[in-house]
Amino acid sequence: MPAANNTYDYIIVGAGSAGCALAYRLSRESSRKVLLLEAGGKDSFPPIHIPLGFAFMMKNPRVNWCYETEPEPELHNRRIACPRGKVLGGTSCINGMVYIRGQKQDYDGWAELGNDGWSYEDVLPYFKRAEHKAEGANAYHGQGGPLWVEEVSLDDKLELADMFVQAAVQTGLPFNEDFNGASQEGAGDYQRKIRKGKRQSCARTYLDACKNRPNLTILTGAMTEKLLLEKHRAVGVQYTLKGKKVDSTEQAFTTGEVILCGGVVNSPQLLELSGIGQRQHLEQLGIDVVRELPGVGENLQDHLTINIQQGVEGVPTFHEETRPLAMLGNLFKYFTRGKGLLAHPASQVGVFFRSDEKESTPNAQIHFAPAASEPDKKGNLKPRPGTTATVCNLRPESRGSIHIRSTNPNDPPVIRANYLSTQRDRDVMVSALRKVREIFRAPALADRLSREFSPGDTVQTDEQILSFIRAESESVYHPVGTCRMGDDELAVVDARLRVHGMEGLRVADASIMPTITSGNTHAPAVMIAEKCADMLLQDAGLRVTLPEGLQDKQQPATTATPLQAVANSA
Ligand SMILES: Cc1cc2nc3c(=O)[nH]c(=O)nc-3n(C[C@H](O)[C@H](O)[C@H](O)COP(=O)(O)OP(=O)(O)OC[C@H]3O[C@@H](n4cnc5c(N)ncnc54)[C@H](O)[C@@H]3O)c2cc1C
Repeated sequence: MPAANNTYDYIIVGAGSAGCALAYRLSRESSRKVLLLEAGGKDSFPPIHIPLGFAFMMKNPRVNWCYETEPEPELHNRRIACPRGKVLGGTSCINGMVYIRGQKQDYDGWAELGNDGWSYEDVLPYFKRAEHKAEGANAYHGQGGPLWVEEVSLDDKLELADMFVQAAVQTGLPFNEDFNGASQEGAGDYQRKIRKGKRQSCARTYLDACKNRPNLTILTGAMTEKLLLEKHRAVGVQYTLKGKKVDSTEQAFTTGEVILCGGVVNSPQLLELSGIGQRQHLEQLGIDVVRELPGVGENLQDHLTINIQQGVEGVPTFHEETRPLAMLGNLFKYFTRGKGLLAHPASQVGVFFRSDEKESTPNAQIHFAPAASEPDKKGNLKPRPGTTATVCNLRPESRGSIHIRSTNPNDPPVIRANYLSTQRDRDVMVSALRKVREIFRAPALADRLSREFSPGDTVQTDEQILSFIRAESESVYHPVGTCRMGDDELAVVDARLRVHGMEGLRVADASIMPTITSGNTHAPAVMIAEKCADMLLQDAGLRVTLPEGLQDKQQPATTATPLQAVANSA
């Protein structure tokens, strides 16, 4: 019989973007005892909190799992970096802080696939509940939630950013004053998760607001290695706890549920390590199959991106801002007022557009930065006065997978993104790159341009552009979908995020997305956790105050899904 002091109503694995939000919501219910386990350490690494510091974390194992793909066949067999936060706050501590929810059609698409309760109308109240929009609430934005979201302030923006927006408008796109409002299409400012010059990670927002609650236990350095299962019910987890001198193996038990929030790589990893996944793969590794679920680790989707770097003249860029004297000024500005270069998110302005008129909604996104670099004769990157517009295909058809390599939880899983594996994905990238060039050549920017650093003037035909994309593209770091929600045989969780064929086990993070959202993926991951919290409490028979807009849609606790009924009878 497990001791009462290591038994909880809910065990959450992973204190990342979704895990922190879930812990906050569940522990508001004072009668519920919640354990939150995080493999990484505390968020004490200073660059986490300085927005421009994200550049120091891209390859830093102190806060990053530093995953990479296997050689990608369509990208000249290059391995593509897949950074993921390994720290309290997870990837919200290392991301670009751009706040984007995606399109109405993304969520309506999820609902059309059979996922009841996930239409835009259903999820908008959760986005709003999560948010504290600094400038005020309206039909699309909320106030009073833990997640701080603000507009870029005018004195924080370089003139070049506005010139890029103006140039995009000159190519026929609308100016858009709220990408998270009625329509996503057009050019404008990104909203950001920065307050007074500091990153607003989920640790600094959600967790700071709940970490002192007596019913919430947060453990860092706690790497969950497997689920403890009794037949098809999750009854707890086994984890390694980092000690000062030696690590210890620990167990925690639940009378309620285990919720996996380990993210797109680690949630399927933990399922597989626990015997839940593709029979053949598990048997090959000598793992006893507890529940055959062939979709675990499949359906990986990501946004591939390509940089177009353009030299500029006669208008300030980051290049001038990083010269010694200007940098001193920037340091002063940052530490006295939380402003200047160091307070910049990854991108301040952007564009959502259709790569082809036949697209019904925008299918490409540009992140713009007033900075550029060029390889010298030795191939080293040298900063230059210039700009970078990085453009991605928002709704790729290519699908990949993530599966464990061995039974050792510390072995990085095998990630195959299969980028550019369809003709359509290749065509979209080529057209999208051409659109960026069109924007650069619009009147608002044309007079300021010097050389195009990359791909460069010699790259003109579709074949040349595609070849450049194959050689230089990278991920914009939005992998999702490896524990897909649905009700078919390849789905991993149902619409209430319960793992098919299991009891007491859910997944709530970016891995449950059936299709990738059209934009950055942090806000959707948080929304998923917000919604999961209500479903968990409802299914435990508790009275739940649903967010405004859903109160007349109170759903009763549901019984087993068809696939769960099969498990129960097994
Ligand atoms: C460099 C970069 C820039 C990005 N920029 C943006 C942006 O500007 N805007 C945006 O919206 N999105 C951005 N994203 C994407 C976005 O941040 C992620 O999609 C989102 O944070 C994923 O949330 P999650 O909860 O699914 O996973 P995560 O936030 O990754 O959380 C998973 C957590 O689980 C922990 N964990 C994993 N396995 C275990 C285990 N076995 N035991 C215990 N703990 C475990 C991890 O350490 C981590 O803390 C960016 C991503 C990256 C990498």
